[in-house]
Amino acid sequence: MSETVNTFEAQQQGRPTGPLVHGYEVIIGFETHAQLSTLSKIFSRASTAFGAEPNTQACAVDLALPGTLPVMNKGAVERAIQFGLAIGSHIAPRSIFARKNYFYPDLPKGYQISQFEIPVVQGGALEFFLETGKGADLVREKKTVRLVRAHLEEDAGKSLHEDFIGQSGIDLNRAGTPLLEIVTEPDMRSSAEAVAYAKELHKIVTWIGICDGNMQEGSFRCDANVSVRKPGQPLGTRREIKNLNSFKFMQQAIDYEVRWQIEQIEDGLEIQQATVLFNPDTGETRAMRTKEDAADYRYFPDPDLPPLCISEHWIETVRGQMAELPRNMAARFQADYGLSEYDATQLTQSLALATYFEAAAKASGQAKLASNWITGELARRLNSEDLSVEQSPVAAETLAKLISRIADSTVSNSAAKQVFDALWDGGTDVDAVIEAKGLKQLNDTGALEAIVVQVIEANAKNVAEFKAGNEKALNGLVGQIMKASKGKANPQQVNDLLRSKLAG
Ligand code: ADP
Ligand code: MG
Repeated sequence: MSETVNTFEAQQQGRPTGPLVHGYEVIIGFETHAQLSTLSKIFSRASTAFGAEPNTQACAVDLALPGTLPVMNKGAVERAIQFGLAIGSHIAPRSIFARKNYFYPDLPKGYQISQFEIPVVQGGALEFFLETGKGADLVREKKTVRLVRAHLEEDAGKSLHEDFIGQSGIDLNRAGTPLLEIVTEPDMRSSAEAVAYAKELHKIVTWIGICDGNMQEGSFRCDANVSVRKPGQPLGTRREIKNLNSFKFMQQAIDYEVRWQIEQIEDGLEIQQATVLFNPDTGETRAMRTKEDAADYRYFPDPDLPPLCISEHWIETVRGQMAELPRNMAARFQADYGLSEYDATQLTQSLALATYFEAAAKASGQAKLASNWITGELARRLNSEDLSVEQSPVAAETLAKLISRIADSTVSNSAAKQVFDALWDGGTDVDAVIEAKGLKQLNDTGALEAIVVQVIEANAKNVAEFKAGNEKALNGLVGQIMKASKGKANPQQVNDLLRSKLAG
């Protein structure tokens, strides 16, 4: 495997140095297991549905009974092709299944069917933004993480320790579940970048629909390979943190691991290549086993499975069935709706969000307003109540109607927020809510003038300050008028009226 490391070494040259931690550069490479969303298993017809009674979804093939033979699931191959197309990889016209031999109680065959020398998906890259800081200090950096490969393999069963005293149970329902293992180059330079990569990968596999992305159920789990080095030095020895199934733990685990490795080195100790587990309760990583090399697995081509052959025609058929990809959709949102790159990226965080935006933009004819409302008010409410856009109590068409009422000056922006709150709390008819709450914008100049005069009279101090040259004093007056109008006045109109009255 020293050859592999040399290749990485060469490929790391010319890549920018990342932020230093106590003078050390952090190097991270990811291996992610995405469970493919097929109904049946990768080499058998047993169901992949989650949560069934133990051992009710494992057939003779999954149990590796003598005389059974694996049969490739076409849907799993097509999902691998889709993934490769989505990230610009080479799809191997001919790839090979290999046996990865090891003993484990939840692996009755004594080997896992995987791909080794020739994987189905080769190369490709993920591009995403790394955001640091908030508000005015927000910095967005474009990052590219190159993929080495993505290969098809079967999952193993599960050992159950919790429900038994002094013994373990084996549940083989998960045995034979199709996985796509996605391996990056060691291109990431901080825990924040690693999390941003994982989120982008999660977005892509769920967007194209090859994986349900459910991290609690283990449908998307990441192994983070972490090492540190002084800038300019060769790559350090890595430790691999296994099975990270939440973005929060991912960040915590890598940060802990980096600190731990630096301490070891500073204490004059060497890092041993190892597989470690993160314990969310203690926030620490702990060595599980010293790392095995590929040679330990005695890989060899599985004689039960022919080479996987994928024709150009098959690839093109799959390409033709794929939905628009997030980056293409973001580019189209910029071109068709005049959105900024930032807004277009925000709105393509998930297919559901992008669909919501497009529906609201089309129905209202006000793309920019729709974008502002969705990334602003709607996102804020969804976040604070931990809901996804699919669960939004305000449908896209309803938001579109509200936006139309802002555009045609029926309601002011601030009154629209009150309407939105009412819609969120169960209101459905926008016009009825506006009517019931008396939020129609004060377009009647006479009524507005009366309020303006009233406020000027009641705020002699502000008026004097403004006349003495303090522009800010005007804001106080505008605020009073807006309040007196219960948010129904048009702020621009208020401003104009106020200025002309004060000048007069
Ligand atoms: P294996 O398959 O034995 O786990 P690989 O050589 O295929 O090992 O690498 C696995 C992962 O480790 C890849 O994502 C790779 O980018 C990453 N990696 C390799 N060397 C380093 C290193 N020195 N520091 C951090 N990550 C590394
Ligand atoms: Mg590995």
